[in-house]
Amino acid sequence: MADYQHILLAVDFSDEDTYVARKAERLATFFNAKLSVIHILDNIPMPDTAYGTEIPLYSDSPYELLQIEKNKLIHTANQLTIDPTNLWLIWGKPEIEIIRIANREDIDLIVVGSHGRHGLALLLGSTASGVLHHAQCDVLAVRLQDEWAESTILAYS
Ligand code: AMP
Repeated sequence: MADYQHILLAVDFSDEDTYVARKAERLATFFNAKLSVIHILDNIPMPDTAYGTEIPLYSDSPYELLQIEKNKLIHTANQLTIDPTNLWLIWGKPEIEIIRIANREDIDLIVVGSHGRHGLALLLGSTASGVLHHAQCDVLAVRLQDEWAESTILAYS
């Protein structure tokens, strides 16, 4: 198995995040790797293009929805004891932005949850499959069942 140095955990603030995050945290500890966390704002409007698409985390935002998302990311980071400089909050399409930051920051493992969708959802794609198919580094897709009790490793390089 590769010796990972910088792991990127993608969180969507769903109930399953903690399960996925703990896997990423354990891997980071095992490999003595840096752990970064990313959330992509894909469901709230972009209020001010002066920000660019990357949101500074430690200045207050006048926009309530944005402030709520910032607080969630900071809360996740605090639970994992992650350095604030290793957090990314970005507007855009999740799979595209996750991969862009992974390439830019020399990430060697991306960790995402995977619902293992079927049928129409599979045809339309999901964040996990988008990341799996386009990432240039390894990807750990943590299988989320209804009770999200199992996990599967899918490694692509
Ligand atoms: P989905 O394919 O949307 O069910 O999401 C599967 C996984 O992709 C989640 O468990 C996260 O790891 C990641 N993900 C989905 N949406 C986002 C987002 N907006 N920002 C960061 N990661 C995300």
